[in-house]
Amino acid sequence: MSLSEINSRIEAACAKAGRAANTVNLIAVSKVQPLDRVQAVLDEGHRLFGENRVQEAAGKWPDFRDQYGEINVHLIGPLQSNKARQAMELFQAIHSVDRPKLAKTIARLAQEMGKCPELFLQVNTGEEAQKAGVLPADADAFIAECRALALPVRGLMCIPPVDEEPSLHFSLLAKIAARNDLTGLSMGMSSDFESAIALGATHVRVGSAIFGARTASA
Ligand SMILES: *Cc1c(COP(=O)(O)O)cnc(C)c1O
Repeated sequence: MSLSEINSRIEAACAKAGRAANTVNLIAVSKVQPLDRVQAVLDEGHRLFGENRVQEAAGKWPDFRDQYGEINVHLIGPLQSNKARQAMELFQAIHSVDRPKLAKTIARLAQEMGKCPELFLQVNTGEEAQKAGVLPADADAFIAECRALALPVRGLMCIPPVDEEPSLHFSLLAKIAARNDLTGLSMGMSSDFESAIALGATHVRVGSAIFGARTASA
């Protein structure tokens, strides 16, 4: 599927939900995609991308930025504290702030660097042992803690369990965000971004539907 088809589907989903199309940001998830596919999407004028590994992103985006100028790249995968500085240099937003220790590290570095990407706090809505994020019951306290650190919290992010109805998770995330006066909602991927938009997503993370299936695992 092409970028323009995805954009049309986003517009249609917005119209159906009574939302303006410009309230949804399409993050083109370019992890492990061949560079020529990424380049094709850049050539179409798209300037917002998602990566899930710091190292991989560091290997491609500085070159693309030299070539194309300003490009927004968001980190959507797990972040180790020892890579936080590099991530804060490289990305305009981090969607995977998932624990107090990382929040404190980012706050300290933000002081030192005099800048900080926009942050999304990851909530483990499915309470899965193998998945990152704070538990729903701990989310309010974590949001308050991040705000007390003066972090630029833009919103919340979730990755629903693969075998469950995603809309239940999207509505749970939206509910937690609403009661904490957060407007940013990073939710929805290739298979479910329309239902995420119906439930308030402001950032949809779409990979394979734009670029084709990933050959390597990520
Ligand atoms: C890979 C990835 C996506 C994109 O997944 P697709 O199903 O290819 O759209 C979205 N969010 C996260 C966190 C990812 O790691």
